Amino acid sequence: MSCDFKRMLNRELTQLSETSKSGNQVSEFISSTFLEKQHDMEIMSPPTKEKEKKKWPMSQISGVKKPSHSSSVAASSIPRFGIRTDQEDLLAKELEDFDKWGVDIFKISEYSGNRPLTVAMYTIFQERDLLKSFKIPVDTFITYMMALEENYHADVAYHNSIHAADVVQSTNVLLSTPALEAVFTDLEILAAMFASAIHDVDHPGVSNQFLVNTNSELALMYNDSSVLENHHLAVGFKLLQEENCDIFQNLTKKQRQSLRKMVIDMVLATDMSKHMNLLADLKTMVETKKVTSLGVLLLDNYSDRIQVLQNMVHCADLSNPTKPLELYRQWTNRIMVEFFTQGDRERDKGIEISPMCDKHSASIEKSQVGFIDYIVHPLWETWADLVHPDAQEILDMLEDNREWYQSMIPHSPTSTPEDKGGVFGMGAMGGGIASAGEKFQFELTLEEEGESDIESPVDEEFTSTAQDSAPSGVLLAEQKQPNLNTPEHLRIQRNFHVANSLRVPT
Ligand code: AMP
Ligand code: MG
Ligand code: ZN
Repeated sequence: MSCDFKRMLNRELTQLSETSKSGNQVSEFISSTFLEKQHDMEIMSPPTKEKEKKKWPMSQISGVKKPSHSSSVAASSIPRFGIRTDQEDLLAKELEDFDKWGVDIFKISEYSGNRPLTVAMYTIFQERDLLKSFKIPVDTFITYMMALEENYHADVAYHNSIHAADVVQSTNVLLSTPALEAVFTDLEILAAMFASAIHDVDHPGVSNQFLVNTNSELALMYNDSSVLENHHLAVGFKLLQEENCDIFQNLTKKQRQSLRKMVIDMVLATDMSKHMNLLADLKTMVETKKVTSLGVLLLDNYSDRIQVLQNMVHCADLSNPTKPLELYRQWTNRIMVEFFTQGDRERDKGIEISPMCDKHSASIEKSQVGFIDYIVHPLWETWADLVHPDAQEILDMLEDNREWYQSMIPHSPTSTPEDKGGVFGMGAMGGGIASAGEKFQFELTLEEEGESDIESPVDEEFTSTAQDSAPSGVLLAEQKQPNLNTPEHLRIQRNFHVANSLRVPT
């Protein structure tokens, strides 16, 4: 089933890549980031000569910064929010919104002297009484969290401890969703919070593919599979061994084992190349979902429970576009700075520049619209189905933000009509035609499966006519109808799946 689902998406991405240069770039970005790599033996480069290394290979986890002495704290001197700051009142004010979707995590970072992760975790562990439940000494907790936060790179634009704090805070809100009330045990909640906190630790600001392509030490260590995610886990767990850092010291052996397994399962699932499999399985779960007499989800085995937790952290990791626009835009700016920095390094090394990483040609607005249409919306729509009706506001915010980025796509004098918004809006999926055409497009795609790819230049007249007859405002107006609350092109994706799951026996 996930195989068919991916084939459909591949097909759509191929069509998208044929529409224009920027469509091609966004399509490349999505398939290289969110689909598992297809291995092509012929293009493998010959082995390069190993550089001579004095140290024993694999003897240690590289790059772990030991906690500095100043970060080891005494139980008697823990400040109100876990960290010392001279802006405690401002911090207190921001933290009032801590349980809400859309708290300003950038301000929390600023008012905490760049310790948003420590503050976020301390706030949650106190609120949920986890320090008491698991007998975690408060000084150990703060010492560990400070060490963890130090191992995030403050000079990396996106994957720093603000992002970790954001994922922690977002996961915490998702855990409190009514449909999951009292579903998870304290140990599972502890695991979800810990996994969110460590999920990108020691991120160097470059992608897995970059690490593999440059024969990095990390790629060597993890044999090219989920390189970063394996490393984040190793560092997160390794830090527990530093002085006064073992926050799990009072758990039973069984609890520690179980927690470790869950954390590993969750963090490995943040590898974006696992996205399509995760989503396909989540869709299956939604289609067969069971609720208890209390109206909460019934998850009666490990596989179902961890699946929801994995998707929850994954949703939190892909939640930027669901946040208030002023926050979302800051995240976008940061990720583009990080991508462009990687692109500059690739240019310097004379290797191929990764999709969306070339500052001279990337289209930021289009990439966000594509990212939402192909990845974020399908995921959040499925999550919203799972916890219905809890996530409706989140979905609404996402759709509003998509329209904003769509409206910001620059209109260059030389651009074709599809460049002015047709690419993701309507051109790519159904030519902007109404529901009958939508179905037609779908069937067409199915029948084309397996046929050879014929170059199909974009029919400008067709696209512009389609846009004229179905401006995005019309599509938005339709969103009020039940079960039709998504723009045309997104509905098509869902239809793909539904039809798909009917054709394939599970
Ligand atoms: P992670 O790197 O673990 O935080 O996973 C998130 C990945 O999803 C990033 O590395 C990007 O590839 C992608 N991503 C997340 N947020 C955005 C965004 N706002 N714009 C584009 N890509 C994003
Ligand atoms: Mg990651
Ligand atoms: Zn992340």
